[in-house]
Order: sequence, then C-alpha cells, then structure tokens
Amino acid sequence: MNKLKDKVAVVTGASKGIGAGIARQLAADGAKVVVNYASSKSGADKVVADIEAAGGTAVAVGADVTRQAEAESLVRAAIDHFGRLDIVVNNAGIYQLAKVEDTTEELYRRQFDINVLGPLLVIRAAAPHLGKGSSIINIGSNVTRVLPAGSAIYTGTKGAIDAITGVLARELGPRGIRVNAVNPGMVETEGTHAAGAIGSDFQGWYESLTPLGRIGQVQDIAPIVSYLASEDAGWVTGEIILGSGGMR
Ligand code: NAP
Repeated sequence: MNKLKDKVAVVTGASKGIGAGIARQLAADGAKVVVNYASSKSGADKVVADIEAAGGTAVAVGADVTRQAEAESLVRAAIDHFGRLDIVVNNAGIYQLAKVEDTTEELYRRQFDINVLGPLLVIRAAAPHLGKGSSIINIGSNVTRVLPAGSAIYTGTKGAIDAITGVLARELGPRGIRVNAVNPGMVETEGTHAAGAIGSDFQGWYESLTPLGRIGQVQDIAPIVSYLASEDAGWVTGEIILGSGGMR
C-alpha cells in the first residue's frame, strides 16, 4: 500500500511496543520514518532493519523527548535525512500506577514530563516544518474514559493529552494541520509485560469488561494511526479514537 507515499514521519518511543508497530505500519504504507528511541538503540536499530528488509525507508534517532534541545534535534533529523516532515506521532510514554497515598513528586514529574511535556516539545519543534495536509497523532489511553482506581497521575497525563489534542486541533487547523488522538485500551507490549500487567488479575478484569473479550495487540492500534496520518482522514481533526475493543 502506498497511501503515505512521499510523506515523512517521526514516531517517538518507537524502539519497542506500540511505537515500533506504528513505525513499521507507517513505513509499510509508504512513509519514510524516523524511529525515535531514548535508551534502546538496539531496539530502534532492529525496527529500522525490519522496515528496510520489507523495502521501506527509516532511520533510528536517539532523543529524550523531555529535553527541548533533543526534541528539536529529533525534528531536525527528519529534515536532514528526508527533507521534510508531514506526520508526527507522539507515542513515547510511561505508566506507573500508584494509589493517591503513594503519590510522590518523582512519580508525578516523571510521568507528566514524558507523557505531556514530551509531546508539547516535539510539536513545538515540528510545527514550523508542518504544512497543509500534515497530521499530528497523540497516543493517549482509554483510561481517561475508564478512570481506573490507583491511576490518578497516569490518567491525569492522558487527560491532559485529550485536552491538548483538542486545543491544538483548533490552533493548527487554520494551517491545514490535523491533530488527533488514538486512545488504546490495554495492549500487550514490552511495557505491559515489564509492568506485570500481562497475565495478571488486572488483565482478567479488563477483558471481562471488554465487549470484544480480549486485550489488544500492537497491530490493533497501528492501522488506526496510519489512517489518521493519511488523506483518508483529511476532514478529521480534534478527534479521540478509542482502540480498545469497546472498553470504555
Ligand atoms: P513501552 O513498550 O514501554 O515502550 C515505551 C517507549 O517509549 C519506548 O520506545 C521508550 O524508549 C520510549 N520512551 C520512554 N521515555 C522516553 C523519552 N523520555 N523519550 C523518548 N522515548 C521515550 O510502552 P507501550 O506499552 O508501547 O506504550 C506506548 C504508548 O502507548 C504510551 O504513551 C502509553 O501510555 C500508551 N498506551 C499504552 C497502553 C498499553 O496497554 N500498552 C494502553 C494505552 C496507552 P526506550 O525503550 O528507547 O527508552
């Protein structure tokens, strides 16, 4: 498929998990992709190798999105390597659940820095390069609908993403730049494995409340992002699309 032919994309946090799947999908659909990582260079290199083996084009670029200078160098890498930028996917994120009694400054600052400040810094750096037909996709979460107990900080970060998506759709719309969010339900990734969520009671609770009766896989999310990046979604902005098997 070539629906993203001639487009250039940056995907943050694409060394593993949902971001890696999105990078592979956008490349399979014809985009040239900047595969961002923070600490997992080998993971990002593997994603790039897979994309190239499938006939696509990608480059791995290290950048901590919580640092303004690094967010700027990430965007500059897209321009230097591929000459333009059309698609920005703010996927990098972390989830550390804690009851309110266990809330700490560190838990708050780390999650808000990566999940909220990071996307803002990347969009700030990217905006001057984006033109008519460009697309920004923020990865939120269906926790903003489900509101799980014990997730105040994490859900707070994703509530901010919902709101920022709406604000920036208005702010950047007059320039022909669309801004949408994809809010996954629970998805099997390296991150959810590391968090001990896979195979846990939480997964059972989640599936029991999910109309489609299972948790998600990366491939359940990546095509939604590719759709929003494409001209097929040319009249779609400010939307929050749940990819959650109906769990809300
Ligand atoms: P994951 O497997 O833990 O992967 C996280 C990615 O984010 C990694 O590539 C990591 O890079 C990157 N990252 C972390 N901090 C970063 C930073 N400061 N700068 C740049 N990149 C950074 O996570 P995931 O489960 O795929 O989740 C991805 C996104 O989906 C997150 O925004 C998450 O909130 C959202 N989400 C996930 C689920 C789920 O159930 N999995 C559900 C709803 C929403 P390195 O490995 O290179 O450090």
